[in-house]
Amino acid sequence: MTLALYNTLSRRVEPFAPLAPPRVTLYTCGPTVWNYAHIGNFRTFLFEDLLRRYLAYSGYDVFHIMNLTDVDDRTIKAAAAAGKRLDEHTAPFVQAFFEDRDYLRIQPAHAYPRATASIPAMVRLIERLLERGVAYKGEDGSVYFAIAKFPTYGRLSRLDTRELKVGARVASDEYAKDDPRDFALWKKAEPADEQVGAAWDAPFGRGRPGWHLECSAMSLEQIGKCCRTETLDIHAGGVDLIFPHHEDEIAQSEAATGQAFARYWLHGEFLNVRGTKMSKRFGNFLTARDLREQGVDAAAIRLLFWQTHYRKALDFTDEALAGAGAGVKRLGEFRERLLGERGKGKGEGTLSELAAKFAADFRAALDDDLNAPRACAALFALVHDGNAALDAGAPGAAVALGVLDRAMDVLDALPTAKRLDPELRRWIEDRTAARDKARKAKDFKEADRIRAELASRGVEIEDTPTGTKWRLV
Ligand code: AMP
Ligand code: ZN
Repeated sequence: MTLALYNTLSRRVEPFAPLAPPRVTLYTCGPTVWNYAHIGNFRTFLFEDLLRRYLAYSGYDVFHIMNLTDVDDRTIKAAAAAGKRLDEHTAPFVQAFFEDRDYLRIQPAHAYPRATASIPAMVRLIERLLERGVAYKGEDGSVYFAIAKFPTYGRLSRLDTRELKVGARVASDEYAKDDPRDFALWKKAEPADEQVGAAWDAPFGRGRPGWHLECSAMSLEQIGKCCRTETLDIHAGGVDLIFPHHEDEIAQSEAATGQAFARYWLHGEFLNVRGTKMSKRFGNFLTARDLREQGVDAAAIRLLFWQTHYRKALDFTDEALAGAGAGVKRLGEFRERLLGERGKGKGEGTLSELAAKFAADFRAALDDDLNAPRACAALFALVHDGNAALDAGAPGAAVALGVLDRAMDVLDALPTAKRLDPELRRWIEDRTAARDKARKAKDFKEADRIRAELASRGVEIEDTPTGTKWRLV
């Protein structure tokens, strides 16, 4: 079995193969930092965290880029309303986003390009499009993308071009464009933009970037720097970004580079509240900090989201969150039991068989377009059957513990109090193995040195007839 992912571009589940394995380049559209992100936004970011972690679990070396949209219509409007300059207004929300990310245990991206810090790349991209004749300066001083010059426009969203035309007629600025379907790459600076400091000089006039352009420029700049390519392996976001955002990103990027922009397009479904999309606009939202202040364990939010497939809408309710919280608790208790019984037996026995079955089911589920609900079902089957095996005094807890912890590298859903930072765990395992080796070689001086090294980070070890045990004190 290998990983297969649903590609919005083909509307099919396809085997996943990156361009230059083991490297995978992943770009995910980041938050618009006009305000706090809500947990609907974080459902998308958590789906992307699952994807990223499972790619790593599968042996890939992921380079993950997430942009921060710190200039667009919403950020400018919010800054003006607050009577602040743009950067002054967005800075605390960027900070809050990183705090919420850490609370939710989302692995940090390798690069967080900011739109306002990437203006030169955006200007260069527009110049490339102007040179190629797929962009033009409109009568209103803005620069537009000429959709008629890009015949494959609409391939991702499969929208009929006629439908697009009708939809776009409502745009107030349609008369400045050659074709009402065209979208702005660069918007001429207005007094309101100048007032908050959201305007930059460019050869084609003073103005600010369009939101779609920002993502094209930032992703191309970052993958160029890190990996010398103009094609992403995976581009992801929420379903509401398919059109027009991702469609426009494809048009701008491919028209400029002549290369495929992204090979796999992944889209996560909405988090809803009573059937309606969670949104600032509808006022039906909860932020991550609301939940943190209520004392909600981030593991419960993670497990709640994993229990629904990322391509299915999920309705948020307090009961569902409480149910996930109970699941997290059971998981933590099971791990505690395994920890306590770890010294028993030599790895054979019922628990190691259950663990092997779970490891296979877990992988098969996630290989199948990240079927996390099935992976969770396998996990709770392990908890159930594993507890029964422990009641019967079965050996093999150490093997089960290892398999469980590996799965947690992906799901990361153990109670916060019980959770060991994965980095620390890897370090402890590495150090105890090195100490075992030293002891076997009768290098007791080295073994004592490693013991002291472990103790300095609060790890106590005990040598038992069945091997070395460790615990955090
Ligand atoms: P924004 O900060 O508005 O640019 O949105 C950031 C991300 O959140 C985008 O990928 C959106 O698709 C996603 N998003 C917005 N609302 C929801 C929702 N209710 N459920 C899931 N994802 C959402
Ligand atoms: Zn984007």
